[in-house]
Amino acid sequence: MYDIIIIGAGPAGLTAAIYASRASKKVLVLEANSYGGQIINALSIENYPGNMHISGFDLASSFYHQAKELGAVILFERVLSIKNGKKIKKVITDKTTYEAKAIIIATGCSSRSLSLSNEKMLIGRGLSYCATCDGAFFREKIVAIVGGGNTAIEDAIYLSDIAKKVYLIHRRDKFKADDKSINLLRTKTNVEFLLNSNVVKLNGNDKLESIDVKNNNKIRNIQVDGLFIAIGKVPETDIFKNIINLDDNGYIIAKENCHTNKLGIFVAGDVRRKNIRQLVTATSDGSIAAIEAINYINSNKMKI
Ligand code: NAP
Repeated sequence: MYDIIIIGAGPAGLTAAIYASRASKKVLVLEANSYGGQIINALSIENYPGNMHISGFDLASSFYHQAKELGAVILFERVLSIKNGKKIKKVITDKTTYEAKAIIIATGCSSRSLSLSNEKMLIGRGLSYCATCDGAFFREKIVAIVGGGNTAIEDAIYLSDIAKKVYLIHRRDKFKADDKSINLLRTKTNVEFLLNSNVVKLNGNDKLESIDVKNNNKIRNIQVDGLFIAIGKVPETDIFKNIINLDDNGYIIAKENCHTNKLGIFVAGDVRRKNIRQLVTATSDGSIAAIEAINYINSNKMKI
């Protein structure tokens, strides 16, 4: 049996693993995909203290190796469900079942999809959720971006320097992004704004060929080589919804002490309901959740 099972190997989960391992707890980290979470694709991170420029991959790798060197076991298995026993918790993965005295949920968020019929099939075939990862494939080509927040505007600025033509498609006439970025985007001569517009159809079988964009009940077919979807994130909490209290948007409800509604189950990082989701707030949560889990295990409540 482990002392603490951490679900998710992003910055929050790996920080929790570092803290719990240094406190001599037996720690298992379970990750469904690759370690690093959302930062893994960032070309350069400049707001994490200690490094002026570091790639997301390098920073995530240093978190990962530090956690391993301190003794955490990190396995790449998908968690399917958890069972909340009073003292022993069970974590069921696609391979087996693990037991622990405490659980830390650090599953983060994933990109929101447009929910169009062939969207999944076209991923990597012209459709992407990450301009900094895939933008270079579209040099001198025609691309479109969907969204009106900071990510979409920054993606459009980034892509305008690579692609021949960029369409920015937003469902309203006002953006959520900050004015500075919007003003910079407006200086780009190869960007066309399609406002009050929605992408309603993706055309192409083997790869994306064009999109249908609806505005005022009129549908316009636009030839594109690439489509970048930047319409926000959704928390990865489906498997916890019958056990843990979630807010209306699916985020796990917990205060700054990272306690969920279930004794011995903690939450850390972007998946927690909070106002500011940043790398530093994720690692901060990781340390708090680990210390709270350690205190819980060491307390009389946990004596088996
Ligand atoms: P966001 O701010 O939540 O914006 C999502 C955008 O997508 C909104 O404009 C929204 O439209 C649109 N949208 C949502 N669902 C849609 C759908 N089904 N169809 C079409 N459009 C849809 O997400 P984000 O841009 O990823 O940013 C997330 C957070 O990270 C924000 O707090 C942002 O400020 C921050 N961020 C900061 C930076 C930076 O500081 N450099 C960079 C990137 C992100 P509506 O406007 O109609 O709701």
